[in-house]
Amino acid sequence: MLQTATRQNLCILLLGPPGCGKGTQAKLLCKRFNIPQVSTGDMLRAAIAENSKLGRRTQEIVNHGGLVPDEIMTALVRERIQKDDCKGGFLLDGFPRTVQQARALDRTSLAMSHVFIFQLEDEEAVKRITGRRVHPASGRSYHLVSKPPRSPGLDDLTGEPLIQRKDDSAELAQKRLELYRRQTAPLVDFYKHKNQTTGQPHCLVLDGAAKIEALHQRITREIDGAVQRFLNTTPHA
Ligand code: AMP
Repeated sequence: MLQTATRQNLCILLLGPPGCGKGTQAKLLCKRFNIPQVSTGDMLRAAIAENSKLGRRTQEIVNHGGLVPDEIMTALVRERIQKDDCKGGFLLDGFPRTVQQARALDRTSLAMSHVFIFQLEDEEAVKRITGRRVHPASGRSYHLVSKPPRSPGLDDLTGEPLIQRKDDSAELAQKRLELYRRQTAPLVDFYKHKNQTTGQPHCLVLDGAAKIEALHQRITREIDGAVQRFLNTTPHA
């Protein structure tokens, strides 16, 4: 039952509304556990920047805060998580976003070991989204009020200009939150139910308004604890 908690197959999923801090936690966790971050939003933005076929097909939807069709997303993720660097585990950020996507993920041989569910009030999410500025090349993220860059409008490390994502406007933030409620929030019950019936994945609900470091410590403790329990109950692990 705890087999999925071994270090060999740490498959983490971060679930929560836009602006809840998934991307920030994803980066910290991937560094801590040395696993790749599979961020579907980043993959789509890269495809749009490259003007690839995928980018051309999806840019209107992404820039207007809609959801890219499930078939496109599941094919993209299936291909990505089969790559060698995902063999020792990976972290999903932004996928699945619909029950159909979660079912498609279930049909791969890769079971999720941990689902971390972030909760955040809409008002706080909108403040975070509209104040966000990013360095497109690295994905480094800032906030006009809570984490301003050292020089206004410029990335701390490279000095290159920061941008505001097209979908980070107040209007599109509302639309994305509404889509989250309708299409993605049902995944919370989907994974909780799965845990109750099969014992996995391990699910933990978190307060997205908590401090970045406190959240990171809480998640790390949870993962370390699950791995330790597995080692304690498995004679030859
Ligand atoms: P994110 O960076 O996760 O906020 O994603 C940015 C945008 O990419 C979303 O608003 C969607 O338009 C698109 N997107 C990312 N992941 C998915 C997904 N799993 N399903 C559908 N659309 C997605």
